[in-house]
Amino acid sequence: MDQNTKRSIILDHYSNPRNRGLIEDDTYIKADTNNESCIDEIHLMVKIDNNKIVDARFDGEACAICTSSTSIMIDTLIGKTIEEAIEIYKNFNQMLNEEEYDEELLEQAVAYDDIYKQPNRKKCALLPWWGFEKVMKEYGIK
Ligand code: ZN
Repeated sequence: MDQNTKRSIILDHYSNPRNRGLIEDDTYIKADTNNESCIDEIHLMVKIDNNKIVDARFDGEACAICTSSTSIMIDTLIGKTIEEAIEIYKNFNQMLNEEEYDEELLEQAVAYDDIYKQPNRKKCALLPWWGFEKVMKEYGIK
């Protein structure tokens, strides 16, 4: 994926975030995360049915990187099984830590592959995934 494609993916998700806005529904698992080194505060809600992520929504105030990363995460995770989702998260972490990772698995999230060059931005990209991790714990997965 070239730099222009990556930039346009991030911009697209920032200006038009998917599934923004929370709903009243107790069947979703909720998780709040915030990043003290930025303005980021994300409220995430995820619906898991039959071991599959069937829906996810978010709200909150966040910078461009964090907002787009949350939207991309949601877009990537919906329709995945828990196992697949955890594998994606693992690979996303590896990418941010400059370790080897599976590019295909990450889909659009690969747009952040050079964010390690800005260590203070890494947390912004990771924040929604920490929310996902909290949801997993709540769901009973460590
Ligand atoms: Zn941020």
